[in-house]
Amino acid sequence: MSQTLQSVRGMNDILPDEAEFWELFEDTVRAWLKAYGYRPIRMPIVEPTPLFKRAIGEVTDIVEKEMYSFEDSLNGELLTLRPEGTAGCVRAVIQHGLANQIPRRLYYIGQMFRHERPQKGRYRQFHQLGVEVFGLEGPDVDAELILMTARLWRLLKLDDAVTLQLNSLGSSYARSMYREKLVHYFEQHHDTLDEDSRRRLHSNPLRILDSKNPELAQIIAAAPKLTEHLDEESRTHFLDLCSQLDAAGVRYQINPCLVRGLDYYGRTVFEWVTDKLGAQGTVCAGGRFDGLVEQLGGKATPAVGFAIGLERLTSLLDAGVVPLEQYQPHAYLVRVGDAAQRHALLLAERLRDEVPGLRLQLNHGGGSFKNQLKRADKSGAALALVMGEEEVVNGTVGIKSLREQAEQQTLGLDQIVPFLRDYVAGRK
Ligand code: ATP
Ligand code: MG
Repeated sequence: MSQTLQSVRGMNDILPDEAEFWELFEDTVRAWLKAYGYRPIRMPIVEPTPLFKRAIGEVTDIVEKEMYSFEDSLNGELLTLRPEGTAGCVRAVIQHGLANQIPRRLYYIGQMFRHERPQKGRYRQFHQLGVEVFGLEGPDVDAELILMTARLWRLLKLDDAVTLQLNSLGSSYARSMYREKLVHYFEQHHDTLDEDSRRRLHSNPLRILDSKNPELAQIIAAAPKLTEHLDEESRTHFLDLCSQLDAAGVRYQINPCLVRGLDYYGRTVFEWVTDKLGAQGTVCAGGRFDGLVEQLGGKATPAVGFAIGLERLTSLLDAGVVPLEQYQPHAYLVRVGDAAQRHALLLAERLRDEVPGLRLQLNHGGGSFKNQLKRADKSGAALALVMGEEEVVNGTVGIKSLREQAEQQTLGLDQIVPFLRDYVAGRK
């Protein structure tokens, strides 16, 4: 017997019940993005490996151990399944000259791939909604992005479930000065550091601040703070952002250890976190990447954005927040007998032509009247339209309510269209 094939570990199928939920959730998200002037962009899932190395940084979790990379067997080019969207988005913006038409507000929704240990909220294929703005230095743009995410939480009734953490990483010069101080400090505590942190000490010491190892918590808490070593311009930028958030009534916590796992960030960084998903608590993460466009070969262009992990976000949602009934048919067409079978197929097409928005499911696979009514009930439809031998002869259709106690009605073929139009419009 042949072995059953399974999906790749950490890469999940999203089955119809969940996929319907996702689609409706995405409708809400798209309407929200349009309200702020964002336009969609779709990038390839595969990009040249050097793009991620240059954008994200060699000494980061993603590039060091999480990328799915392979050699194109035809030409030997090194390729990688995208682990995040910003690098590809910036590549596309440069390649197509979009940065010349700034400001630009872009978004994308799609799969990302990281070779991580699968667990709740952490998968090898997952989905991100990415939002990027090019050409605006902020901090009012940073504030708007944060207000925008706060609005999404309200729309999704999640405002009590998430809190905002904020930090500034300063200019790259301020960061390099701070870096020296940090290396000096951690060198004095070399014995206390774990293996990961020792390895990072000279290559990426800021990442030590981000360590989840509880044994390091104390020396991290006592480490010099980046917030105290900001350059003047970044400090003003950050204070301005904070005051705009204060004015808008957005609550936040300044977290000097928030450094983010990707090298391209500078100045503003933020995360929306929840305590409802265990260790995988970051639902939305973002910040400024003013240097990235230039670093990848484009004209110097300030930029800021965020990414939302959709598996984490949707797992927080109550079933009630998206109107799932949009997927249920209004009506299920029961057809018994040969003549009815043939007539009903044509009737169904005519009804779809003439009743805009009608969701009609036709019975397939035969079955007795009783049997078909059971299927109608299971489909979630509110009405069964019934066609048997008698209806064919009389040119009528029976209408049976599946959810309410009501007498079955019989309508002539010319009456059924207005009846269903009223029904779909909510007038019945
Ligand atoms: P974490 O600290 O959880 O590993 P990260 O800093 O690696 O997150 P980002 O690169 O900032 O994450 O990605 C943005 C968002 O994408 C995260 O906040 C999270 O919601 C989601 N995300 C990241 N990695 C995964 C994954 N492996 N599975 C599911 N969601 C993920
Ligand atoms: Mg990670």
